[in-house]
Amino acid sequence: MAETKQSKPPAKKAAPSKAVSTESKLARLGLRTDMDLVLHLPMRYEDETEVIDIRAACLRGGQTSQVEGIVTKNEITYKPRKQMIVHIADDTGELMLRFMNFYGSQTRQLAEGTRVRARGELKHGFFGAEMVHPSYKIVNEGAPLPTSLTPVYPSGEGLSQPVLRRAIADAMGRVDWTDTLPPRLIEKMQLHGFEPAVRLLHNPPQQVDEHALAERSHPAWTRMKFDELLAQQLSLKRAQDARRQKGAAPLAAVGSLTAAFQAALPFRLTGAQARVLEEIRADLRQPYPMQRLLQGDVGSGKTVVAALAATQAIDSGFQAALMAPTEILAEQHFRKIAGWMEPLGVKVAWLTGSLKKKDKMAASALAESGEAQLVIGTHALIQETVQFARLGLVIVDEQHRFGVGQRLTLRNKGADGLVPHQLMMSATPIPRTLAMTYYADLEVSVIDELPPGRTPIVTRVIDQNRRDEVIERVHAAALDGRQVYWVCPLIEESEALQLQTATETHETLAAALPDLQVGLVHGRMKPAEKQEVMDAFTAARVHVLVATTVIEVGVDVPNASLMVIEHAERFGLSQLHQLRGRVGRGSAASVCLLLYQSPLGPVAKQRLATMRETTDGFEIARRDLEIRGPGEFLGARQSGQAMLRFADLETDGWLVDQARDVAHALLHDPAGQPVVEAHLERWLGGREEFLKV
Ligand code: ADP
Ligand code: MG
Repeated sequence: MAETKQSKPPAKKAAPSKAVSTESKLARLGLRTDMDLVLHLPMRYEDETEVIDIRAACLRGGQTSQVEGIVTKNEITYKPRKQMIVHIADDTGELMLRFMNFYGSQTRQLAEGTRVRARGELKHGFFGAEMVHPSYKIVNEGAPLPTSLTPVYPSGEGLSQPVLRRAIADAMGRVDWTDTLPPRLIEKMQLHGFEPAVRLLHNPPQQVDEHALAERSHPAWTRMKFDELLAQQLSLKRAQDARRQKGAAPLAAVGSLTAAFQAALPFRLTGAQARVLEEIRADLRQPYPMQRLLQGDVGSGKTVVAALAATQAIDSGFQAALMAPTEILAEQHFRKIAGWMEPLGVKVAWLTGSLKKKDKMAASALAESGEAQLVIGTHALIQETVQFARLGLVIVDEQHRFGVGQRLTLRNKGADGLVPHQLMMSATPIPRTLAMTYYADLEVSVIDELPPGRTPIVTRVIDQNRRDEVIERVHAAALDGRQVYWVCPLIEESEALQLQTATETHETLAAALPDLQVGLVHGRMKPAEKQEVMDAFTAARVHVLVATTVIEVGVDVPNASLMVIEHAERFGLSQLHQLRGRVGRGSAASVCLLLYQSPLGPVAKQRLATMRETTDGFEIARRDLEIRGPGEFLGARQSGQAMLRFADLETDGWLVDQARDVAHALLHDPAGQPVVEAHLERWLGGREEFLKV
């Protein structure tokens, strides 16, 4: 049987690319070693194990079928453009194979009288039944059919399926198939053996459960996923070990400043805050750098926990730095924390990009001399020019908004070649499986309780055409002494348009509510202007604050208890949740009105329903993951994302747990060491660079 199969038409006027070797084409796909090839598993399968009569295929119509016939005519036509039409027939009927792009050699190959097996989707065209660009093979009469499904591999330019298949088959003959997992583990976990699993996936037997194969729920796939997740967990643990090899200054003193700070707080820590604080305190005492993510829903009180971590650093004679992603958020922190600490004699410096050069230099000097015990600011903090005398702790708020690189720079700012401890905070709750697999080497603390006295937020979803009623409601609320956020629609395509909308909304509302003070805050305002408006709102001199998403994070005005979000259908779930978290912070019953423009698409509908049904950030994150899938959930910036080829975090969460347990057991058993080595070598082959963050 000649290997002339062709599933894709050759590109028009394609230059012969013999010059590039198969080897380098494989390398482009990341396939360098024999094991790389063996683990290059099919993305799907084609069923060529069956040939059906042309008549039967025609009756089935619209489906992919394989037929076999003799070429009765081969013609080139030019209407509407050049194409080759090959007529084939068997005892039951006839069929046309239509090729828009073809090589001259194919005309000769498919000459009259040739027996051909063609596989493709059968359509009923104007001139009768036809297959457009079928894959085909020239065969002899009675040539055996494949007994297994035909794998289709992820491929690259100029690399045909037969070549890839050949290379993989050759590699399978050369690799060492020794199972990396010990037999008792395989038995206990009821896993497929490595070799049989891989062989089955490359050459599935005829009687295989095709559905399970396609869905990747077949035990052979489970073995691959498990192995992959295990390799990931093992290398995460290794990265953790490597971190522990690095030195950090132990910040052991929970001393007089901490005590004074805690005594001055106007409230008691919640149970959850106290618990995560203990976790952080224990980490800070270690001589290796903490790397902890503090997760807590919007309003759960992360700031005070961060401040208490900072006082521990200061009590221990070191400096702490707090970095926030936006100027407005950094400023909120500065005001709040400086307000707490300065009366206790702590020197707090303020450092952001928008400072005048002179002020920036002054702030840098305070950091460098060590006079500032706490430095708060934006990413200007991590610029090369800023040096710290004794930086012991770095706190990063809303860490998911910072790039990996930015976080890395901070690490290099420790004193005496030591790495500072790192505390990252996030209100975007990350489902546990994601946290475990996407964030390399991170300890996670969760504040799962809100401070007492919060009133639940009632959320209503309202058609945009009832805007007038909503304005009435705003009016009534303001007269009642409550304050209101009015969030303008997100216009992703154009910042200018967004700005215009915000300005117009402000004008309309100011005109509609002449007896109220209506303020405006947006991203293009100068920091000082922004602050002025925010101050007026905080002091209740402004009743209604029209805002773009700049208020998404960090704004804290407890008296604000009504929020209106226009065109809520344009926002993502986590953004809506963050926005809504600006209300419900005081004792007044809070309301969030989500205005939407109908008709709503199915996804937007789901999102708004979720917002109406729950205020639990973790539940929202879980649904978000469901609606969007993990890749989009985290954005391309996160590390480790490209790592999982086979496992799917949505459906294979249970396997993540098992892999984690097995990784733990192997690493704590001296006899496990060779297993760890062999497994990492097989699955990562030294490619661990994604774990460096
Ligand atoms: P987030 O976790 O969203 O950053 P914040 O730290 O801004 O939340 O806290 C939200 C509000 O709750 C602030 O006004 C803060 O002072 C207040 N708060 C924090 N902890 C407590 C507590 N234990 N009891 C009462 N109020 C608290
Ligand atoms: Mg916060």
